[in-house]
Amino acid sequence: MNELTTEVVIAGAGPTGLMLANELALAGVDVVVLERLPERTGLSKALNLQPRTAEVLDLRGLLGRAEERSFATVPEGHFAMIPVSYASWNTRHPYQLAIPQVQVEAALEERLAEQDVEVLRGQALTAFTQDADGVTVTTSDTRIRASYLAGCDGGRSTVRKALGLPFEGIDGRGHGVVADVRFAATPPGAQSEWRSMRNIVTTDGIGKYTGLIPLSEPNLYRLAYGDRLNRPANLRAEVTDEEVRDVITKTYGEETKVEEIRWASRFGDDSRLAASYRAGRVFLAGDAAHTHFPAGGQGLNLGIQDAMNLGWKLAAQIKGRAPQGQLDTYEQERRPVAEAVIQNVAAQSALIPATPELLALRTIFRALSELPEAQHHLSGLVSGLSITYPRKDKDHPATGTRLPDFKTKEGHASTWFHKGKFVLLTTQPTEKPHPEVEVAQVDELPWHDVTRALIRPDGYVANTTGETKSWLA
Ligand SMILES: Cc1cc2nc3c(=O)[nH]c(=O)nc-3n(C[C@H](O)[C@H](O)[C@H](O)COP(=O)(O)OP(=O)(O)OC[C@H]3O[C@@H](n4cnc5c(N)ncnc54)[C@H](O)[C@@H]3O)c2cc1C
Repeated sequence: MNELTTEVVIAGAGPTGLMLANELALAGVDVVVLERLPERTGLSKALNLQPRTAEVLDLRGLLGRAEERSFATVPEGHFAMIPVSYASWNTRHPYQLAIPQVQVEAALEERLAEQDVEVLRGQALTAFTQDADGVTVTTSDTRIRASYLAGCDGGRSTVRKALGLPFEGIDGRGHGVVADVRFAATPPGAQSEWRSMRNIVTTDGIGKYTGLIPLSEPNLYRLAYGDRLNRPANLRAEVTDEEVRDVITKTYGEETKVEEIRWASRFGDDSRLAASYRAGRVFLAGDAAHTHFPAGGQGLNLGIQDAMNLGWKLAAQIKGRAPQGQLDTYEQERRPVAEAVIQNVAAQSALIPATPELLALRTIFRALSELPEAQHHLSGLVSGLSITYPRKDKDHPATGTRLPDFKTKEGHASTWFHKGKFVLLTTQPTEKPHPEVEVAQVDELPWHDVTRALIRPDGYVANTTGETKSWLA
């Protein structure tokens, strides 16, 4: 048995684990990342980064790497396959960045390697124990002693199961399939390049849906189809080429010729949320903590933002600068966000009509969704832009909201966050109040009645007084 010692062990090198590892490494925390698979599969479930995730990556100077690997920008999202514009939001990134999940992982792992952290591949966490001082994690050939363990090991999380945490939610009845298909020519009605969410997916009014999203090569598409009322006996059974070809012929006609089916996978529509995100020295993040039907393209985005929230708090705890209770705010802040996503996914599922009544409801909902306020509300839900964290009644309304990435003399506010520290924005010359706080003097702040604001490393407003003691010990 090999023996290793570190500060944090992360199980899982998906988007969540890799983002968390980056955040910890940036803060100077020693981290070991374990990945069960010997190499990346090259297959992508997710295809997008939502606006808030683009902002979050920009806060760390990581967005450029994602942009280089992206194949389109789409100026809207969708709610139950009804397009919702991002234009009403005060953001520099009012679009979905089209990027395969595997490329998000590659970008994050590239930055991680630059921080001298290597992913240990072919190393599945098989068991762990914890005591008052730390955790001991075991793989097939290695034992690692650490202060903390983060389970970022996906929906079937070994870490969550070992903790015995309930994983309950809404039982789905249906299933979906995704398949990457290359056609001989652009299929009828499909976009040749991904430019909009309009007519991407259609429903038949009895619970079934089918859609085509153009990918990065000519005539290569992500085919998605499903039935929200029926699921096969074995959800993990292989999706045959015959099944995929049959759906294509029925939906797009005999003349739509398939040249290649690269891969296909089936998934369920259950929603589950871990009863707790923390048990002692062990945390859950990403799909290990929450899973749901991929409506609206939100899961990977949730995971990256979980990692951002946990990263700076865990680093502060390890470095001895976290005030009492700060680490518990990870669950207090992020679990309600996942709960809200699970609710919006449930609403989206209901709007895939399974009865004539629901079809009528969808028609009215679609008309109402055109109203500017409805567009703003729905796009806020799926984009992550409407996420706020709790504030007290006496606090300024900006408290707990995201800092808009406003223009500064040198560029944009996001650049101040590249080191992952707190930033004190002030209109007056101000001494550094704490070694972990960057001071940025500006002519004016985004709120007319605020002259000082302490911003957290994840870009949310801590307070509008500049007080640091309750945030940094
Ligand atoms: C069909 C489909 C389409 C989707 N589309 C979108 C979309 O468009 N947009 C979006 O935002 N989300 C989408 N999602 C959701 C998204 O793919 C997930 O939310 C995302 O992968 C979660 O990332 P994660 O890092 O938390 O978990 P995962 O990506 O599951 O990564 C977990 C990692 O942990 C590893 N692992 C597992 N067990 C162990 C162990 N014991 N030890 C060590 N390593 C382990 C796994 O090999 C894996 O690499 C989609 C999901 C599906 C099923």
